[in-house]
Amino acid sequence: MIVRARAVVTMNGAPVENGAVAVSGDRVVDVGKFPEVSACYSGEEIIDLGEQVLLPGLINAHCHLDYTCLRGKIAPQESFTDWICAINAEKSKLLPQDYVTSINEGFAEAKRFGTTTIANLTAFPELIRRVLAVPIRTWWFAELIDVRSPNRANELGDSAVELLKSERNYGLAPHALFTASKNLYQHCEEVARRQNILLTTHLAESREEMEMFRDASGPLYEFMENIGRDMSDCGHATALERFLKVRDSSTPKPFGALSDNDWLVAHLNELTESDFGLLEKMKTKFHVVHSPRSHDYFDHSRFPFKRLRALGFNVCLGTDSLASNESLSLFAETRAFQLSKPEISPEEIFEMVTVNPASALSQQKILGRIRPGFQADLIAIPSSESRDLFEEIVAFDGEVDWIMVNGRMQSIQSTCD
Ligand SMILES: [Zn+2]
Repeated sequence: MIVRARAVVTMNGAPVENGAVAVSGDRVVDVGKFPEVSACYSGEEIIDLGEQVLLPGLINAHCHLDYTCLRGKIAPQESFTDWICAINAEKSKLLPQDYVTSINEGFAEAKRFGTTTIANLTAFPELIRRVLAVPIRTWWFAELIDVRSPNRANELGDSAVELLKSERNYGLAPHALFTASKNLYQHCEEVARRQNILLTTHLAESREEMEMFRDASGPLYEFMENIGRDMSDCGHATALERFLKVRDSSTPKPFGALSDNDWLVAHLNELTESDFGLLEKMKTKFHVVHSPRSHDYFDHSRFPFKRLRALGFNVCLGTDSLASNESLSLFAETRAFQLSKPEISPEEIFEMVTVNPASALSQQKILGRIRPGFQADLIAIPSSESRDLFEEIVAFDGEVDWIMVNGRMQSIQSTCD
């Protein structure tokens, strides 16, 4: 079939006015001016999207659909530690079926806002088989916490893989340095090397996390100490230093396949000058995920976008969960990012929800652009000719009008088509 639109934003060269994309099966086979593409594929069904702009489907590099039902339930708290207590209190009221409903509703919402690929952390990999039908491309990351049972790190990682391995795309997510032990991080790296899967974690998110690791003090330190965490790793290093150290001392890497490039690191708000020195020295860089609206909700320190970019880090955007955000719209994230960093070009911001997360998921050859051979994941939004195209895309506020995932047009409303 041929999909025509007023403009096609390919992220692979300049946008094509009066453009068309030819789709066969699950792939894009041609992109160009409508008259030329339609002449090449005469007789094919033509879907004319009129005055819309056709875009690559968006990629959410960090979210937790488990908590879709917590939207609006937790007001911003005095401290990050208070928020942890508040979400734990909310979670204690939920049953497994509530999480399943949350995940289903989260998928439907993400899709309505034009997300066609999602990196979703779940604390309940055992519930995935109960999810209705997964309507978009999903990387399932099992979120692992062993703060109360650090001797069970291997068992925890292995049983998560057992639950996930029938999924097409999956990975492991040791939650954060304050909740996941060194053993757990190291075991996850070993498993990732063996299975050739990705890893993600939360790092250097809050001032309190920095205080805990660097100074062995503060509300998070006290809270974690109270629940019985071994605090002997605190008071020596920043969170980033600790992360690099935990992984450096892991067992030799016999397969040599895993590198920092296989990590998606969420947050990185709290970095010292010495941390920047370490980041500069890294030969291969991990990928960084920033969640602008969740960041604002927590009032974290300013995200050092320009410094990370200058050091060669691939920065992506994510929504994080609805326990600290209002919706699963990546367009709302691009708007929030632009508000905080108006000097960054809209095209570069749009890369952070398309080509950059495609690279972070090691899918840069098939996702994030509209290009022959790439997966046919496409979305359309309304446009007016009077505005700069990328300016208009980044400022878009609403649900998409049309969506195709894997070469199949999908209804925006239904959760399971
Ligand atoms: Zn998160």
